[in-house]
Amino acid sequence: MTIWKPLLDFFLKPNCPLCDRPTPTTLCIYCDRQLQAEQLSDPLQKTAPFILAGGNYSGTLKRAIAQCKYHNHPQLGYYLGELLGKAWLTHTPHNSQIMAIPIPLHPDKQHQRGFNQAELIAKGFCHHTGIKLNQSLLRVKSTEAQFQLNPTDRHQNLHNAFELQAGHKLQGRSIILIDDIYTTGATISAASTPLQNASVNLVGIAVSAIARLN
Ligand SMILES: [Zn+2]
Repeated sequence: MTIWKPLLDFFLKPNCPLCDRPTPTTLCIYCDRQLQAEQLSDPLQKTAPFILAGGNYSGTLKRAIAQCKYHNHPQLGYYLGELLGKAWLTHTPHNSQIMAIPIPLHPDKQHQRGFNQAELIAKGFCHHTGIKLNQSLLRVKSTEAQFQLNPTDRHQNLHNAFELQAGHKLQGRSIILIDDIYTTGATISAASTPLQNASVNLVGIAVSAIARLN
């Protein structure tokens, strides 16, 4: 019995979703170190709204997002949210009045995947920063995958894709939008339309990864 117990523990330990080493935590220490090393030293673009990006969409970070979304590892989303929360606390002026809204998936898509990665990132982020989570933004139009489309078609594809829930109580509030990847900004732009229409103040965007198109 005494021999089998450790052996059993070894086999029951979940493996690191990025390298398959057994680990008691979400990621093994090697992949964790790698992801931390890939975080941008200067993650804040002071545009209006500002953009806070954890890292570039490449390397281990890109693999972590893909493993989360396409290989059913929702725990990675939460982990990436905590990393983003660390960047927030270090690089942005803290504002406890701000609320964080994840970019929603269409319900059909969410049912298919089982979770919304942006929501998990937002939950990890809010847990780490103490910022309030708000899920009043809804995706009401099922859209084609954006990566297959050129910039004009991306905007057309997302036209009227988002709405605010009835009775949302966000009027006059300051919010940030949270997503996994920022590419052309087409999704953020479409999501900001119902916010503007309801006089919600979009102050920033926080994403785990930014894809550079050049
Ligand atoms: Zn690993």
